[in-house]
Amino acid sequence: MVSEQRRCILTIHAHPDDEASKGAPTLAMYHDQGVRTVLVCCTGGEEGDLQNPALRAEGQPFHGLTPEQEKAKLAELRVSELAESARIIGFDDVIMLGYRDSGMVDTEPNSNPASFHLAPMDEAVGRLVEVIRRTKPQVIITYNDDQSGYPHPDHLKVHDISIPAFERAGDPTWYPEAGPPFQPSKLYYTMWTRGRLHAVHEALLRLRGSSPYDDEWLARPSSDDRITTRLDVSGYLWARSGALRAHATQVDPDEPFWFGLSDDELAEVYPYEDWVLASSHVRPLAEGEIEDDLFAGIDFPAVEGPVAALSAVETRNAVSS
Ligand SMILES: [Zn+2]
Repeated sequence: MVSEQRRCILTIHAHPDDEASKGAPTLAMYHDQGVRTVLVCCTGGEEGDLQNPALRAEGQPFHGLTPEQEKAKLAELRVSELAESARIIGFDDVIMLGYRDSGMVDTEPNSNPASFHLAPMDEAVGRLVEVIRRTKPQVIITYNDDQSGYPHPDHLKVHDISIPAFERAGDPTWYPEAGPPFQPSKLYYTMWTRGRLHAVHEALLRLRGSSPYDDEWLARPSSDDRITTRLDVSGYLWARSGALRAHATQVDPDEPFWFGLSDDELAEVYPYEDWVLASSHVRPLAEGEIEDDLFAGIDFPAVEGPVAALSAVETRNAVSS
């Protein structure tokens, strides 16, 4: 069945806004090529703070609110912000895994039994397996095994449930009630590469005279030697900036960390997104090989174009057979 063979990417994130800051141009590019794009968001981001002080000004949604009212307003707005961000990037499906934001380590929400980081492992993996079996992605994207730079409990948990879910989805002995087994072909990790950080830092110094990256940032250990996959996303950087701006409560539009360079400037400076192929059921990469396609090596008939074109192919095959 042609519909079974349509290319699909599923990306797993912890909070609304993570899909904007990690991999948005890549997802926009594949969506544009007719690939089905699925976002799994594990929590509602209930513990986020208002990061955009301008929204407390007169006439703005947070003007004059008590801290409790602000929190309630924030939780409500994050739902619509995620929907707008997903629309901009081009996600075909947005699936909430249904857990509560755990907040940072040693904060009170950390002990809430509904929080994601306290979810029993097999139960949380099972929810993700059900989504994988239903959406049938050949490619899954999750967070890195090394998150020492930003060890948020929810981000660590995203990684921890993704690894077993990738294998258990294809194993009929796990979660028989969650649908027929489906084995995804490749599992990737997102990266914050040192190459990109330095390129952006130097461009900001050159073009703006200052950079938000201090010595601590610049001294972070590099894991760029782990890069297996490099995509030129220069035509899709609008997905990152547009989706970040959609998260108006979380992202200050004047923050140089996010918006120091325009899309065009960034395309000149560092037009790539880099990935680590963490696990694969297709041919192994040769020593030093750098892929330029997340679907490289996956063997199924290439079906290009949007859904409408798919049905045309299907109809033609039906007529000729
Ligand atoms: Zn997050």
